[in-house]
Amino acid sequence: MILRGITMQHADIAIINGTILTMDTQNSTFENGFVCIRGDTISHIGANNEIPFQAKQIIDAKGGLILPGLINGHTHAAMSLFRGLADDLPLMEWLNNYIFPVERRIDADFVYTGTMLACAEMIMCGTTTFCDMYLFEEEVARAAREAGMRCLVGEVLYDFPSPNYGPIEKGLEYTESLIRKWEDDPLVSIAVEPHSLFTCSPDLLTAANELSLNYKVPLIIHVAETLNEIAEVREKYGKRPFEHLDSLGILGPHLIADHCVHLDESEIKRMADHGVKAINNPESNMKLASGISPVSKLLAQGVTVGLGTDGCASNNNLDLFTEMDMAAKLHKIATMDPTVLDAVTVMKMATIKGAKALELEDITGSLEPGKKADIIIVDTNKPHLTPMYNPYSHLVYAARGSDVIHSVINGQLVMENRKLLTLNLDDIIAQARAKAVQVKAWVSG
Ligand SMILES: [Zn+2]
Repeated sequence: MILRGITMQHADIAIINGTILTMDTQNSTFENGFVCIRGDTISHIGANNEIPFQAKQIIDAKGGLILPGLINGHTHAAMSLFRGLADDLPLMEWLNNYIFPVERRIDADFVYTGTMLACAEMIMCGTTTFCDMYLFEEEVARAAREAGMRCLVGEVLYDFPSPNYGPIEKGLEYTESLIRKWEDDPLVSIAVEPHSLFTCSPDLLTAANELSLNYKVPLIIHVAETLNEIAEVREKYGKRPFEHLDSLGILGPHLIADHCVHLDESEIKRMADHGVKAINNPESNMKLASGISPVSKLLAQGVTVGLGTDGCASNNNLDLFTEMDMAAKLHKIATMDPTVLDAVTVMKMATIKGAKALELEDITGSLEPGKKADIIIVDTNKPHLTPMYNPYSHLVYAARGSDVIHSVINGQLVMENRKLLTLNLDDIIAQARAKAVQVKAWVSG
């Protein structure tokens, strides 16, 4: 890696003076390392700041940790505007009395405002890529683009009419137009996203699957989140959720299944055999008392599992550092085994495995020359991160999103010394507060 004898290397950005955790297949690390970025791409990585380079901009990590930006594998970004609106309620009461009444009234501007707020929060806690399912996804893509964030987004599809596209036929058309419009975009990718097995008929699931296969884009569904869902699918189709999907011919490596809380052994095997990917959302599953996903069993069977926050209404933040901490601890207590989901495994779920789950592993999820430059720097000059024997341990068990000090996405510096460079935080907060006044009126009206 040390290119002695080669004349001065040129870089647009050089990040120096930190411990680099690449999260590559060997889990390579570099002490006193440097990362050079040319354009949108990582050009060199090495140790001891030895490479002769000339960079337009140098970012001094000041002994901190340099790592791939985190990947939020499942969220509903605009639900940031419902943060703390209603907590501590049974799922159906929460949905019927709070979430559904307000979601019926939201519009494009609401989703744009909520997503801008979510992007600000995500960048400020080290997330560089997110996967979204919601309404008015064109607005989500637009907001992410303005924020400079990488994303995989898709319009939520279900059997009933949507405030965005109306009847479901239009939903499939809308999704197709999103796929065409954002094809070749450097940051935004589109997925086909039927909501769940209990809100989507077999016909809709089949049509969504065909659209996904035709355009070679992922198919994303909530699956096996609650026991209610298991009972409903059993009653309607006489099958377990993954059996039902299998009978429709939908299982495959293009399928990303969110939650996967209630699975039996045969379903785990089906997922592994077909290369289905899973996203674990431990905090949301705890808050809604949905249950605990058998993540250690999925991993043991070789299923790719990423990590997500789910929406802010059931979390109530988008901080993947706290999500990593919760994931590691929840699965230990669930199995009564402190060795499951060790810190490195959990870090992978939030980085390279998350990228793999979203089919973005050629682009992001690890620091390797040739990959896009999605990089965060964690400031470790803090009491709760001192001393440091093992950086993975700190990132999973001690760090918080607010410890991220700089962030680069696709070669663009989007946060420097905790100041957002692509977004006006004061404006975003003011607009979000104005939307909350509306939400309050909708709930009380
Ligand atoms: Zn969700």
